[in-house]
Amino acid sequence: MSLAFATIKQLREKLAKKEITSAELLSYFTKRFEKFDGKLGSALEIFDEKSVLSHTGSNNSSELSGIPGLIKDNICQKDRVASCSSKMLENFISTYDATVIQKLKTDGTLLMGRANCDEFAMGSSTEYSAYKKAYNPWDITRVPGGSGGGSAAAVAAGLVPWALGSETGGSVRLPAAFCGIVGSKPTYGLVSRYGLIAYASSLDQIGINTRTVYDNALVLSSIAGNDVNDSSTLNVEKTDYTKNLTGKLKEGLTIGIIDNALNAEGMDQEVKSLTQAAIDKLESLGAKIKLVKMPSMDYSAATYFIISRAEAASNLARFDGVRYGLRNKGAKTLNEMYCQTRKDSFGTEVKARILIGNYVLSAGQAAEYYENAQKVQRLMRKELNDLFGDIDLLICPTQAAPAFKIGAFAKDKLQMDLQDYFTAFVNLTGVPAISIPCGFTKDKLPVGFQIIGPHLSEELIFQTAYAYEQSTEWHKMHPAGYED
Ligand code: GLN
Repeated sequence: MSLAFATIKQLREKLAKKEITSAELLSYFTKRFEKFDGKLGSALEIFDEKSVLSHTGSNNSSELSGIPGLIKDNICQKDRVASCSSKMLENFISTYDATVIQKLKTDGTLLMGRANCDEFAMGSSTEYSAYKKAYNPWDITRVPGGSGGGSAAAVAAGLVPWALGSETGGSVRLPAAFCGIVGSKPTYGLVSRYGLIAYASSLDQIGINTRTVYDNALVLSSIAGNDVNDSSTLNVEKTDYTKNLTGKLKEGLTIGIIDNALNAEGMDQEVKSLTQAAIDKLESLGAKIKLVKMPSMDYSAATYFIISRAEAASNLARFDGVRYGLRNKGAKTLNEMYCQTRKDSFGTEVKARILIGNYVLSAGQAAEYYENAQKVQRLMRKELNDLFGDIDLLICPTQAAPAFKIGAFAKDKLQMDLQDYFTAFVNLTGVPAISIPCGFTKDKLPVGFQIIGPHLSEELIFQTAYAYEQSTEWHKMHPAGYED
């Protein structure tokens, strides 16, 4: 068995049998980054092996002990740069560990580097990283998705078994679907945001990329839980999210299919038929399938557009050259220093979002934009709540089309923003979801679909996703050219 595509579970068995040490495992994956990441661009930095080993605890009873992972560059790791793929924070070194990092270190994971992403997690392709683009390992002329394209590309190419990402509108699930792997977005408040550099705080949530459902549940079991440093975290007991992974569906499971999503205008026909095949498979495994409608979903990308920009404008006001990151040295007045610093250090997309955010919040416009967006958000919550009165879970495509070519939407911003079409309502309503692979197009591009559940239904989502995954072969397929 190649170590490159081994699951966390298989790697743990090797460590337990002493067939390999964790230092050797780290060395192995470090070499894979050296060999393959020149063309993939998934990491902004891979740390020196010695320093990785000295930055972790060792908890031999943990299922993650000695397992290397990659962290999106908007999550703070003590004594490491956290740049958010922005020039603004290129010299920002975190003085503390995010809560998730603390937990992962306690469990003995080896945090080997910083994953590339869109600047401040704003984008759907990782083309807005201020440092370099990331590429899709299945087809190097295409994007890996965004904003967490680095995390997903690295996991898909077998450079690392798991990676953390962050979700505001779909940044873990979309890259997962584009790269043929698993991506989860937990219930808002299940995972602490302490140490996650904020984009839109009411939507932000840390998520997980892995190649299998089991591994994903394993990492969530480590990072979930209440945190005194994040008052929006929920009071939940420590849970082992792998415990329902029996390969069977829950007795009497009813799944709703969002009809207006599957039949949305502009939907790629191959993506649609692969999603339909996944639904048929779940039905053959015993699920009851019901067609449902969620009319407000059609407005979710627009709603997300307004709410995310509004919050971004306020969150990013702190980057003014005084407290964090870069400072313009030539300015003569304080005001000029603020302006020059922000002008020089933010990329075009980030600046556009700050402008739009301030506009939709401004006195003359707030009622028309921000307040209306909040009304639609409330409607969305109500519609979803009503739906979950009748059904256990929902299925929805993750993507409208397969991964697009690098540069395809450079001049078509609307298409870029519409990438959130099927994912953003999950963030706007705070519910959990997972994207899992459901096949390949004729061009051999991976496709994923989402399983979505009510608040804190992670166990049921994982159980269902696992049963589906185990009855398919998609998770065993890997991009060519990344063998040892
Ligand atoms: N594509 C979305 C955006 O650009 C997703 C971002 C995210 O989830 N971080 O805002």
